[in-house]
Order: sequence, then C-alpha cells, then structure tokens
Amino acid sequence: MPIHEESLIRPENLRKHEELNIDNVDVSGHWSTFIETRSVADYNENLEREISAFPGGAYIHRCWQCGACTNSCTVNAINPDFNPRYWIYLARLGMEQELLRDKEIIWQCVSCHRCTHVCPRDVEPEGVMKALSHWLEAKGHTPKSQSQHFDEEFYQQILETGKIEEGRIVRNFFNRTGQPLKQPWLIRMVKNLIRGLPIMLMFKMGLSTLFRPKTKDWSKSKHSIEELIEMRELERKKILEGNEAS
Ligand code: SF4
Ligand code: SF4
Repeated sequence: MPIHEESLIRPENLRKHEELNIDNVDVSGHWSTFIETRSVADYNENLEREISAFPGGAYIHRCWQCGACTNSCTVNAINPDFNPRYWIYLARLGMEQELLRDKEIIWQCVSCHRCTHVCPRDVEPEGVMKALSHWLEAKGHTPKSQSQHFDEEFYQQILETGKIEEGRIVRNFFNRTGQPLKQPWLIRMVKNLIRGLPIMLMFKMGLSTLFRPKTKDWSKSKHSIEELIEMRELERKKILEGNEAS
C-alpha cells in the first residue's frame, strides 16, 4: 500500500524494493514501500518530571496535542523540523532518544511567545522550549547555549543590583561568548535608538552604566532569591538523579 504521508517518516525507517513480486503481482518501487517495524525499549519514565523541574516546564502535563503552537511558530515557518508540539509529545511519552535526535535545533526558539499566546491549555510552550534546552545542557547532551549564557548574565545582574542595565547585559554577553561588540546590527540598532531618545534619559542611562545603582534595601530580597534558586537547584538535582520523593 502506498504511503501518502511519506515525508513525515524518517528516511532510515523506510524500506523500498526496486523489484518485488508477491504472488505474481508486481509491487516494485513505490508500491513496495514499507515502514520498518520497531519497538521502543528505552523509555525514560521520569522524562516529563525532569523537564517540568526546569523553569518554564511546569505546565507540560496540560498539553492535549492540538498543534496550535507549531502552527503559529516563527521558527517552524522557516524550518519545519522545529516542532514544539512533537517535542512535548515525546517528552510526555518518555522517548528521550527520539527527542535527542533534534537536540541541535531545540535551542533555536526565539522566545517570540506566539505559541504561548495561542495555546488553549496554558502550557506555555515557549517556557517548555527553554526547559528542554536547559535539560539538554544539564544532562550533558549539548554544550551551554548562547541563550543560557544570556539568561545567566541577566539574572546575575538582577541578583547583584535588583535592576537590569541593558547595555551592560549585552556587553557582558558578548564577552562571555567571545563575540566582538562591534556588530553591524547592534551599531545600527543603537543609532536608531539614540535618535529617538530624549537627552535627559540618555544622560540618566549613561550615569546608570557608570555607577550601577542598586534597588533600595536589595540585600534582603537578594538573600531570599538566592535561597530559592539554591532550593530549586537541589530539587532539580534530585529529580535528575531519580532520587526525589514522589
Ligand atoms: S498549543 Fe498548547 S495544547 Fe496545543 S499542542 Fe501546543 S502546547 Fe499542546
Ligand atoms: S516562542 Fe519559540 S516555540 Fe514559541 S512560537 Fe516563538 S519560536 Fe516558536
């Protein structure tokens, strides 16, 4: 029987016989296309729990597979292999090895939030994509991504001062990732920005860059946030090691 949705099946799972005759019926070529039988024996039954332990992944269990996230996805429009719905499906089933086949593209989510906006179940798929990327890194499947470097820079600055200063984040991010600061797109963006900003605001921004003001009484909040981060990291570690009390 011909397979109408052949494009959805990985080429290595397809078997074709250039010449095949069954009971005197010629089924050569396209007519003898079969899908390789397979059985999955390496489920990770803890996978959904592992991913939901990372920031953004908490609501993965709500997904009912409608596909609205993938249909609205900015990256999927460019690369059909980028498929949030499918990755959520694999994570919920515990198919870790299947998920790992796409590990080089999962981090490419551009955080545009379109999927989260359309999701009828409040899964927050954008958050799940972040959780998946962080899970891949934590399990050693991928190196630390650029997006993770950016997040670390962001929250370190919040921890230190209770504020964010965009210029410093961008500078430190380029530093961390070994990229030159003089990027043509960045120069263009800054020029356009400066053109529309009032002089006083630019002056204040310049002062903030030099003196790094802190939020008043920040040290107490900083301490609580650090405690929370530490607690969550410990919980996550236990879940990843399979030692959590369920
Ligand atoms: S839109 Fe929401 S419910 Fe639908 S497949 Fe995506 S994550 Fe699941
Ligand atoms: S946030 Fe990421 S997954 Fe969601 S639509 Fe945008 S690129 Fe796609």
